Amino acid sequence: MIERTLVLLKPDTVQRCFMGEIISRFEKAGFKIVGCKMVWIDKDFSKQHYEEHVEKDFYPGLENMITDGPVLAMVLEGVDAIENVRKMVGATEPKASAPGTIRGDYAHISYGHADENKIGVKNLIHASDIPENAKKEVSLWFTEKELHSYKTVHDAHILE
Ligand code: UDP
Ligand code: MG
Repeated sequence: MIERTLVLLKPDTVQRCFMGEIISRFEKAGFKIVGCKMVWIDKDFSKQHYEEHVEKDFYPGLENMITDGPVLAMVLEGVDAIENVRKMVGATEPKASAPGTIRGDYAHISYGHADENKIGVKNLIHASDIPENAKKEVSLWFTEKELHSYKTVHDAHILE
């Protein structure tokens, strides 16, 4: 099924001047970028995006991290995009994420280290986890006008 999913390149990625590297992986895998913009969110917006985590112990560190600078927000479209993109992103804790995944290749921090130092787990990227959240997150971050339908050469390979 062709799906759309929300991807955020978090402030640590933007500050590491690393956006192109990650965008390139998704392009090479054949995902279509149907929306893309840079946004510096405030604490209120963070609470909306991370609604499910607001009451958790790690939330203050997460909020500091996600509001620390602009993020690059994208909507990716492709076959089973939600699951496929999460597979490329890897496990939440970089220490545990497999080599070959974005978090496993470009980060290594552990929960233990982050908690000891009362900081968020800098893991480069957010991607929607389930269809219900993808729908909610895409409409939180993007208006209909900011999302584009167009053809890429990959369409010929997945639609025929
Ligand atoms: N996070 C954190 N400490 C934790 C757990 C999560 O700082 O103990 C951060 C981390 O950046 C993670 C985000 O909170 O990406 C959202 O957590 P979630 O469990 O939803 O992980 P994700 O869906 O991003 O893999
Ligand atoms: Mg999550």
